[in-house]
Amino acid sequence: VLPPKGKPKWLRVKLPTGKKYTQLRGLVEKYDLHTICTSGSCPNMGECWGEGTATFMILGNVCTRSCGFCGVKTGRPEDVDWAEPEKVARSIKIMGIKHAVVTSVDRDDLKDMGSIIWAETVKAIRRMNPETTLETLIPDFQGIERHIDRIIEVQPEVVSHNMETVKRLTREVRIQAKYERSLEVLRYLGEGVNRTKSGIMLGLGELEEEVIETMEDLRKANVDVVTIGQYLQPSKKHLPVKEFILPEQFKKYEELGLKMGFRHVESGALVRSSYKAHKHIN
Ligand code: SF4
Ligand code: SF4
Repeated sequence: VLPPKGKPKWLRVKLPTGKKYTQLRGLVEKYDLHTICTSGSCPNMGECWGEGTATFMILGNVCTRSCGFCGVKTGRPEDVDWAEPEKVARSIKIMGIKHAVVTSVDRDDLKDMGSIIWAETVKAIRRMNPETTLETLIPDFQGIERHIDRIIEVQPEVVSHNMETVKRLTREVRIQAKYERSLEVLRYLGEGVNRTKSGIMLGLGELEEEVIETMEDLRKANVDVVTIGQYLQPSKKHLPVKEFILPEQFKKYEELGLKMGFRHVESGALVRSSYKAHKHIN
């Protein structure tokens, strides 16, 4: 399907509502809490927050990388805030989050690539919110095992790292990353943690057989959960949407994925990597 002028009807969402959503929205404003859900105006806020899931970003708002699809600013990141782990843990407590997803910008400028703050954040969340389960959506840490090991040591319930796209488009979509390296990170994680997960976006010009190849590569790397969603252009400066994928095509990938042996497959236009994240611990 070629991109029409407006969004197709399956991409239009209702404004989030619900008691839990309204209550959380108020808390986020009152305490100036930082969630990706609000900063990226995610269409799933009503649903996720209603279920007690939210996504938090650590290590600042400026990234050392410049992926063509991503709305995060590129440049020289701020200094590391060593109080950040406590702040995130407190936000989770105030919001009463049952399942938290934590992610970060890439910090190729730091010797440890941010892995120490990552581990401290998980520890602080555990201390302050012993009941909250966690997914850490981590960068590739350039594939360096001693950084990845810091994540494995703190044992989040789910560890995810997104492939974002198929092999052929990786250079164009995330220039500083490598398809094989990301797969290797996932494979390595799979040996040390309970559950691994990855996500891709569609509509960047990939072919069906390339999507299937990526899913097969993920299975070979023993990844347990895959998310597949529609790419939407954050601004005119970002990569254009080449195609809006039809709902039945998403369904087809879901069925294929389950046959391949993934434990969970979230496949749909509005799926984001943290969508229905609370389900993926089981
Ligand atoms: Fe937040 Fe992710 Fe849910 Fe969107 S999909 S509301 S970013 S947890
Ligand atoms: Fe965005 Fe992550 Fe790429 Fe940085 S590394 S530009 S945060 S997708």
